[in-house]
Amino acid sequence: RFISFEGIDGSGKSTQARLLHEALIAQGRDAILTREPGGSPGAEDIRKLLLEGAAERWSSETELLLFTAARRDHLERTIRPALDAGRIVICDRFADSTRMYQGLRGDDLRALVDRLHDLMIAQEPDLTILIDIDPETGLGRAVARGGDELRFEGFGGALQARMRQGFLDLAAEAPERITVIDGARDVELVARDVRDVVEARLP
Ligand code: C5P
Repeated sequence: RFISFEGIDGSGKSTQARLLHEALIAQGRDAILTREPGGSPGAEDIRKLLLEGAAERWSSETELLLFTAARRDHLERTIRPALDAGRIVICDRFADSTRMYQGLRGDDLRALVDRLHDLMIAQEPDLTILIDIDPETGLGRAVARGGDELRFEGFGGALQARMRQGFLDLAAEAPERITVIDGARDVELVARDVRDVVEARLP
């Protein structure tokens, strides 16, 4: 089983991915926790190329290629081997993040995102948990933490609002894959909802 967590910056998805991993391990299940960009040695190196240096270092297209290269390596080296071994894979961000972060830069970019995905990735999670939160609350959390995302332009503003709506639209298009959970509540309440959704899908 392949489970991804998605949401805008500061949604709490990384915390929720970690809590789900801990809960599954406590139940004696064989689960790994991984993340994007990154999740394999090569993809973690690409992550540094993406997140270090000036924000305008790469063009939108080059950035998309780097995210896609990182995802391909992560899939080959970490995700597929774990799934083949019968393990549960919990991934903090996957292709939906690229559909939003790189794809929302224009219709041309979104078309490129979809074509590259079909060519090079062609894999969807079995279940995606979308942690939904309003951008103001997300920004407050991310500022408090001083996270990487503060480097990205448009942070906390209109772009995050468009991204939130974009994620909700993806969920409406693929309701059998994507479950939306209200992330504006106490972390333990959100974690309980996540566990309920996941346990209902596991054998
Ligand atoms: O999820 P995490 O906070 O580790 O993501 C690191 C940064 O990469 C964030 O600032 C996020 O906005 C950005 N990102 C991106 N495109 C993706 C995935 C993440 O711009 N596909």
